[in-house]
Amino acid sequence: MPTYHYACSACGHRFDAVQSIHAEALTECPECGGEVRRVISAAAVTFKGSGFYRTDSRSKGSGSSSSSGSSS
Ligand SMILES: [Zn+2]
Repeated sequence: MPTYHYACSACGHRFDAVQSIHAEALTECPECGGEVRRVISAAAVTFKGSGFYRTDSRSKGSGSSSSSGSSS
């Protein structure tokens, strides 16, 4: 079974979970009960520290069509 990586958007707790590919993604942080998101393993490498909060705030403004010149 594959190992999935999760990160909590509330407390920043990160953990791995071995799940069936048919299992639903976890949504609750085991540490604080907050909302967790599944992290793609390739992205988990760059997932150390402050970069996490940047992606979190970006999800609020769903406007990626009108921003000119931002290549990220
Ligand atoms: Zn948490």
